[in-house]
Amino acid sequence: MKLYAMPEPKFQDLSETEFVYLYDYHIEAPAAWAAVAEYLTERARLHGAKPLRIVEDTAYGPEAYRMQIATDVITVCTGGASGARYAVYMLMQIAYRSRIPVGVIADHPDMASRGYQLNLRGPLRQTPVDVLCHYLRLCGQAKINTVLIEYDTRFDHGKYQPYEPWMLSKTDMQQVQKTAQDEGITIIPLIQTYGHLEFLLSQPSLSAIREEQDLPDQLCPLHPDSMPFSKALIDMYVEAHPGLQYLHIGGDETRQLGKCPKCAAYVAKHGKGGLYTHYVNELIDYLCSKGITPLVYDDMICAHPEAMKDLDRRATIVYWDYWTTSDPSPLLVARGGHEWAIVRDKASWDDRNFEGLPDMQREIFKVFGKPADLENGGLDPAYLERYRPYLGDQFPKYVKAFPYIEYYQDQGFKVIAMPTSLGNSDNYLGAPNEARFTANIRTFAERTIQAKADGMITSAWFRFPESAYPIGIALAGQYSWGMPEYQEGK
Ligand SMILES: [Zn+2]
Repeated sequence: MKLYAMPEPKFQDLSETEFVYLYDYHIEAPAAWAAVAEYLTERARLHGAKPLRIVEDTAYGPEAYRMQIATDVITVCTGGASGARYAVYMLMQIAYRSRIPVGVIADHPDMASRGYQLNLRGPLRQTPVDVLCHYLRLCGQAKINTVLIEYDTRFDHGKYQPYEPWMLSKTDMQQVQKTAQDEGITIIPLIQTYGHLEFLLSQPSLSAIREEQDLPDQLCPLHPDSMPFSKALIDMYVEAHPGLQYLHIGGDETRQLGKCPKCAAYVAKHGKGGLYTHYVNELIDYLCSKGITPLVYDDMICAHPEAMKDLDRRATIVYWDYWTTSDPSPLLVARGGHEWAIVRDKASWDDRNFEGLPDMQREIFKVFGKPADLENGGLDPAYLERYRPYLGDQFPKYVKAFPYIEYYQDQGFKVIAMPTSLGNSDNYLGAPNEARFTANIRTFAERTIQAKADGMITSAWFRFPESAYPIGIALAGQYSWGMPEYQEGK
């Protein structure tokens, strides 16, 4: 039976002819799960006479469940409160005019950490707090258990930033955190601490610590006031999120490394990667001393091998790639290997011969994937020496999708994958290229599960309007939970 659920359950055996009504049931749960039961009772409006009985059963994982839907009772066996939550959300998704078929649904995630980005600098830049909470509830319903929040100017950065009417108040922050807690969602705040800081460094009061005076994106890592500034930002975010476990410190696209004379001298001695880790490692240590796990973007570390060598292994690497849409992939994101970064093999795929590629890949090649001789001189030899073992046996025509997952793992890091649901530059029929994003999320999820990486956070970038945003939640949930056709014998 087609359930129209996202994510689809791994197993279902449901009647085509016999139905019950969801509103006829009320929740009965173990005392330890009373708060969740109360929340779900209100969410699903379960005030009927028949029992929906939640039974703790350690044969199931904390997010897995087996649900027997019968005319007199619905029984949910699960190892945790999240399993109960997901079972009720499944009933809410499949109830059509309140009617649900009798039978069995069993489900479990293929990926433990399933994330989505609430991007308050992008599509959600003016979203009221009650709507933000609604998106958190949509995430919960999509079985997303981690939300990366990039607050940008909507966080009150105190003396570093003038007041803005869209800033979230303390009460707003608490409402967001309470909703996340109700939905079983872990919040990971993102605060940039190195580059992409134009929203703060453009303030005249912070001009002294810019790496370049006329480009306020990046701070100078060797200016004595920079580290206290970055740590002050971290302190603000830690204070605003009681019980914080993870903090993403950004660190992507620090393209101005070594521009000021002091940094140039340091780079001459230690390389750009050396300058990068010199700063980032102190932030990692600072967070670890507070018992918080730091997350760092991968691109600078990937492009600068000396950074990979020195980076503190207590950081979790967030590996972003928004262009790879199949495994193997005819497109290589060659960080540090080619001036264009995103390339294809010229001999295999010249401008006239895209034979064997789907239309979507051809469309992507119109914008991304410059032709280059990947085997003979088109890639930096040091890049090839380092990464060739990870590129797969069909190189250079195809490369293994997301080849750096295993590389980062081999280097001793935990890895979180980051595809995008709303990305950059290309479009389809004048709209964001959702076909690319869907395939990007799906392929990255497959590889994350295959490589046993530590989770996935789907991003949502660029300044598209909020109306272009919610489909990404459903896609992120669908593919990080895992697809039913992947399950043996089901
Ligand atoms: Zn500098």
